[in-house]
Amino acid sequence: MQRVVIVGGGAVGSSTAYHLAVHPRFRGNIVVVERDPTYRIASSSLSCSSIRQQFSTPVNIAMSQYGLGFLRRAAEALEVDGDKPQLGLREPGYLFLASASGLDVLRDNHAVQRDAGADVALLQPSELKTRFPWLSTDGIAAGSLGLSGEGWFDGPAMLQALRRKARKLGVTYVAQDAVGFTRAGERISGVRLADGTVLDCDVAVNAAGPWAARVAEWAGVDLPVRARKRMVYVIACRTPLPNCPLVIDATGVFFRQEGLGYVCGRSPGEGEPDPDEPPLDVDDAMFHDYVWPAMATRAPAFEELKMMSSWAGYYEYNVFDQNGIIGPHPAVPNLIFANGFSGHGIQHSPATGRGVAELIADGGYVSLDLSPLGFSRVVAGNKLIERNIV
Ligand SMILES: Cc1cc2nc3c(=O)[nH]c(=O)nc-3n(C[C@H](O)[C@H](O)[C@H](O)COP(=O)(O)OP(=O)(O)OC[C@H]3O[C@@H](n4cnc5c(N)ncnc54)[C@H](O)[C@@H]3O)c2cc1C
Repeated sequence: MQRVVIVGGGAVGSSTAYHLAVHPRFRGNIVVVERDPTYRIASSSLSCSSIRQQFSTPVNIAMSQYGLGFLRRAAEALEVDGDKPQLGLREPGYLFLASASGLDVLRDNHAVQRDAGADVALLQPSELKTRFPWLSTDGIAAGSLGLSGEGWFDGPAMLQALRRKARKLGVTYVAQDAVGFTRAGERISGVRLADGTVLDCDVAVNAAGPWAARVAEWAGVDLPVRARKRMVYVIACRTPLPNCPLVIDATGVFFRQEGLGYVCGRSPGEGEPDPDEPPLDVDDAMFHDYVWPAMATRAPAFEELKMMSSWAGYYEYNVFDQNGIIGPHPAVPNLIFANGFSGHGIQHSPATGRGVAELIADGGYVSLDLSPLGFSRVVAGNKLIERNIV
């Protein structure tokens, strides 16, 4: 009987609990320590919950492909007492636009994506214009469009469905702050809670999202993951943009439909301030100075729009190479990390949960080799660069 304690019950922690609970060879007890059952500032609550295959790294594409299949069959897989969760998956695609200077990278990424089985097409400006008459192709050399298997879903609903199913399968959620580890030599022997209780464990999982570096510190591990604020604006626009995919403009600004309106935003550019764990207030200047002008250039219908609301959340940003870090640290063999997804973690939470469950129950990856995302690359200083970070 293995005792597993997962610190953090967001999408990554709850997916790990679920995949472990359904794993045919797992025998044991699973506890998730989640200090805020309302998930008020968890990344999984504040996400744009979009899913794409347009990555530059084969392992990221494969993780999205599992995530997509998982979302498509979630109503059955996560059903509890006849209640089938509706996760609202829509698949209008992503459209990555490149200017002349970004064309080679777009083409290289396209080749990697096609090799990995992604259903993507490279489109010339005239073809883009035919498909999307509302789009201005000024300054655009080409676009890469996901023809199927890309879009968005209801992330908080997925989190709640995973949590509910995990509990139904016997997982215990403890609503407390985890504050430290107890050690037995190089191993973690327990997770200490704020009320002084120690949850003994054979394996601990760090699924603490943007706060994961603090958990790593308890084990003396320097995890290069920081809480970085990202802002999202919700706008209304009178003129419809038929079949609008999730557009990533060559400037880095993104927009996509959400209900009757649109969500949009942008990550700070090279050299712009991007402090660790700032307050989650929204700065409208980012919208007025960068996001709106780029949107209005790309789709003139956005010259007239109304901002309806906005929010901010934390990316659990991997400052080393902006990719997930999954697996144990070489110095602490029974502490498994599942952190640092830098803006693509909710779509990768199903594949991450399955992979961590296999590490625990099988002693290694079975379904998909996630070792390119292992901690050893960080220790060795070998970056796994993902070129499509949004
Ligand atoms: C604005 C925004 C847009 C995004 N858009 C996308 C997108 O389109 N597609 C995509 O794939 N990803 C996106 N992401 C990223 C994605 O949301 C995250 O990668 C993912 O939700 C991370 O899940 P998590 O479970 O690791 O973290 P979280 O959801 O933050 O969960 C971690 C949990 O750990 C708990 N915790 C932490 N420390 C402790 C402790 N000591 N004791 C007890 N509990 C603890 C916290 O309370 C929290 O609930 C976006 C993120 C943001 C902020």
